[in-house]
Amino acid sequence: MKAFAYLPDGTAGWVEKERPHPSGYDAVIRPLLVAPCTSDVHNVAIGCLQPNRVLGHEGLGEIVEVGDLVRDFRVGDVVVVPPVTPDWRTVPSQLGAHQHCAGLITGQKLSNSEDGLMAEYALIRDIDANAARIPDGVTLEGAVLAADMLNTGLYGAELAEVQPGDTVVVMGIGPVGLMAVAGARLRGAGRIIAIGSRPKCVELARLYGATDIVNYKEGDVERQVHLLTDKQGADCCICAGGGPEALGQAAAMVRWGGTVGNVNYFTTYGDLPLNNVRFGFGMGNKTIRGGECPGGRARMERLLRLLQYGRVDPTPLITHRFTGLDQVEDAFRLMEKKPPALVKTMVAL
Ligand code: NDP
Ligand code: ZN
Repeated sequence: MKAFAYLPDGTAGWVEKERPHPSGYDAVIRPLLVAPCTSDVHNVAIGCLQPNRVLGHEGLGEIVEVGDLVRDFRVGDVVVVPPVTPDWRTVPSQLGAHQHCAGLITGQKLSNSEDGLMAEYALIRDIDANAARIPDGVTLEGAVLAADMLNTGLYGAELAEVQPGDTVVVMGIGPVGLMAVAGARLRGAGRIIAIGSRPKCVELARLYGATDIVNYKEGDVERQVHLLTDKQGADCCICAGGGPEALGQAAAMVRWGGTVGNVNYFTTYGDLPLNNVRFGFGMGNKTIRGGECPGGRARMERLLRLLQYGRVDPTPLITHRFTGLDQVEDAFRLMEKKPPALVKTMVAL
């Protein structure tokens, strides 16, 4: 089969691979819709993948083959899978940390330690535990965006422990940050201060519930948030973008006792100024919590319910649509370049 993969020379490109066949609890799908993620771009840029690893962990497809132990799904079912399709039969999974089922950040198998979805066929491990049918009233595009973008953005709001009426800062308003804005609103945030610069993202941030916009290119973000909050700081901050200094900035922007929820994928870290009076972190009872988005079928079904019952519609995130497996490369290159009008690409295979 043909697949878009991480190549031995450290770039992304096309490979020919054996088509997978399932056994046991696994199934094989024929991907129908895929979206490249900023994390795919990062993984290629930092070269952390095995050569010829198929990319892509956002998508859905039609089941073409099931293992002999699969219970709830049949050939012909259309299913969406979250990026995290862990091994549920491990001790960390039993302890509630399925994202780390076999060690730190090992729950995301697709496109990391197992081949991903940008291919003619993809193996989905333990499909009964890791896939969901698309409910009536939910579009295929919406389901794909729910799997990673809404999942991660909402998780940022969960990690930040957004409470009803809170003043929340959302650092970064790419597709993940925009869904963090939506997630903060779903959890009852009062004021939502969104940090970004591109006009399209600012427009969508307002659509999803941002009440204030801070442009990080127009001055120090800590100072801008400080002034906007009468020098009090926000109750919490969801970190979904920014440079290596973002975590320190996020810690500085929340008040005493505030919480930072980080979902940003840092490739380098700046200094975290512990015990610094200005940041108050270390002496300010502040908390930083970070994580990989949750996976599995139950999480996926809950996310889909948010779409089914009209709580949130992630499809306005799609700014560029492509058709055909060949065009996966164009969609991926666009995510690498991040032109001003781009938020998210979607490819119908
Ligand atoms: P984007 O690159 O599309 O968005 C990044 C955002 O950060 C943009 O709004 C950008 O602003 C803003 N930004 C850039 N530099 C700064 C700065 N110095 N200060 C403040 N804001 C800045 O990324 P995505 O939304 O696609 O993804 C966000 C992160 O989430 C990525 O690191 C991704 O890898 C990660 N991720 C994590 C997952 C998880 O499970 N934890 C899952 C999926 C993604 P501008 O408007 O100027 O572009
Ligand atoms: Zn992702």
